[in-house]
Amino acid sequence: MAEITRREFLKLGAAGAAGLAVPIANPLGFDLKSVKRRTLELRIAGAKEVHSVCPYCAVGCALIAYTKQANGTTQLLQIEGDPDSPVNEGRLCPKGATAMQLATSSRRVEKPLYRAPGSAKWEEKSWDFMLDKIAQNLKASRDNTFVAQDANGNTVNRTEGVAFAGGAAFSSEEGYFATKLMRTLGVVHIEQQARV
Ligand code: SF4
Repeated sequence: MAEITRREFLKLGAAGAAGLAVPIANPLGFDLKSVKRRTLELRIAGAKEVHSVCPYCAVGCALIAYTKQANGTTQLLQIEGDPDSPVNEGRLCPKGATAMQLATSSRRVEKPLYRAPGSAKWEEKSWDFMLDKIAQNLKASRDNTFVAQDANGNTVNRTEGVAFAGGAAFSSEEGYFATKLMRTLGVVHIEQQARV
């Protein structure tokens, strides 16, 4: 029997999962004519393959993004695991498998939303307003709860009135940066939403 690469095997598997039943004769023992015909009709047919790395954690699973030019813009059609990667061999964890949502989800909040104390509604605000508000509130909480020494006289320089929770869509670099910033401020309560 002729050799077949892992990539070719996975492509055939995907085609089979799409319900393509076929008779015999080639590397896997199947007649691939009807498979090839149906493959041409797939959403990613003719798309450009762009290789990337999942941004979510240090495992570094490899991704393939399929893009197409349409109406003067680049459309993202699909993101999936790269079968040629020795790291993930085409697989992605549930988080990595939703990487496309990071770019295309209609539920993404695209503008800053602010809910004033006591209010039941969210209002759109500018980034300048939000950043000033966060900085003012953070400083006030830090100033009010800063502990220079603990009960035993040890120098601790920490703020106990502020906690930080990173989002699950943080990349490794964003997580690193956020942790450095919070530790610099003396924040000790740091968590990541993916672990909650
Ligand atoms: S797919 Fe999952 S395990 Fe792989 S890099 Fe992304 S988050 Fe990490």
